[in-house]
Amino acid sequence: MTLANGRDYLAIPGPSVMPERVLRAMQRTSPNIYEGELHSLTDGMIPDLRRVAGTDGYVAIYIGNGHAAWEAALCNTCSRGDRVLIAVTGAFARGWAEMAEGLGLVPQLIEFDDPAPVDPERVADALRADTGHAIRAVLVVHVDTSTSVRSDVAAVSAAVRATGHPALVMADCIASLGCDRFEMDAWGVDVMISASQKGLMTPPGLAFVWFNDRAAAARDGADLASRYWDWGPRANPEAFWQYFDGTAPTHHLYALREALDMIGEEGLPAIWARHERLARAVWAAVDHWGQGGPIRLNVPDPAQRSHAVTTLCLPDGAATRLRGWCEDKAGVTLGIGLGKEPYDDWFRIGHMGHVNAHMVLGTLGVIEAGMRALDVPFAEGGLGAAAQVISEA
Ligand SMILES: *Cc1c(COP(=O)(O)O)cnc(C)c1O
Repeated sequence: MTLANGRDYLAIPGPSVMPERVLRAMQRTSPNIYEGELHSLTDGMIPDLRRVAGTDGYVAIYIGNGHAAWEAALCNTCSRGDRVLIAVTGAFARGWAEMAEGLGLVPQLIEFDDPAPVDPERVADALRADTGHAIRAVLVVHVDTSTSVRSDVAAVSAAVRATGHPALVMADCIASLGCDRFEMDAWGVDVMISASQKGLMTPPGLAFVWFNDRAAAARDGADLASRYWDWGPRANPEAFWQYFDGTAPTHHLYALREALDMIGEEGLPAIWARHERLARAVWAAVDHWGQGGPIRLNVPDPAQRSHAVTTLCLPDGAATRLRGWCEDKAGVTLGIGLGKEPYDDWFRIGHMGHVNAHMVLGTLGVIEAGMRALDVPFAEGGLGAAAQVISEA
């Protein structure tokens, strides 16, 4: 029999759960794009977008996904043949490197052993070796969603600046913005990118690039800055259509407005604390189960773990079987393993955005039921360990 009928839960690391309020905000007729409410609504979101990123700088919005943001950040700062240094902590850093290569840039990869975060000193060493300053930018993925490794972006920026090298620091916060603490200006980040469908709780389709004056200055010499991707008019529009270089993504803007209201109501510190607490509940359950069975977290050090996504190993192909069981029998869809071998031994739990204690405890309960059903051994008491973490909140 199946027990999946009821509200399903897409517990993958993006798209995340869309709040009813956000979905309802989209249930409306098209607004006039030439004048009126949509203009003030969009103007009013810019300060909120700055606040979410922790910056007084600029923000450009694109109709696109995270890959669009990757490309936009590079196009506005780099010229063909420029070198970019990429700190690799998982599949998404590699994806950004491929994007750079496709644009005619020369990616220089520094690989960190999965599951380790970026070592700022190795980044600094690479910059010190670049005496001719061929490296235009250092690319860091704050949370690599494939490994669930979280790196210390502030420490990376500080190490970069300490070398005296002029490279820009760029951070991919697609999986972390609105989940894990991030403070663009305080952390010395020049360019930060994100997208709508993870911590920002809005359907996929909006990409964001925040940048400061240093990055804006790089735009002038960047020969990759093509007309459509140019962040200048988008961040400083003289007319409304320039925000999006054409028709605005009308319904997405209503959705984002609602999501930003929700973020403002809860407050970023409370949001960060909620994500941390829920993540700790997941870790507590898995650590406990693992005392009597094969399930384990990818990242051993809690200080290096994302609070928005958790990558887990369940060997002998049990991860794929578990995902199937959880979806078919219990209405919970877990994330596939990404960039990890063997494919069938890894899965991920998304706990980002509009997620609360009962959703996480429910997911953990379903995982435990699935391990029972599939005859995967585990130590009894994992759910109790998670409940304990929640009860102490
Ligand atoms: C999801 C994600 C991406 C890719 O975003 P798309 O919208 O799928 O293009 C890139 N980087 C990170 C860290 C992500 O989590």
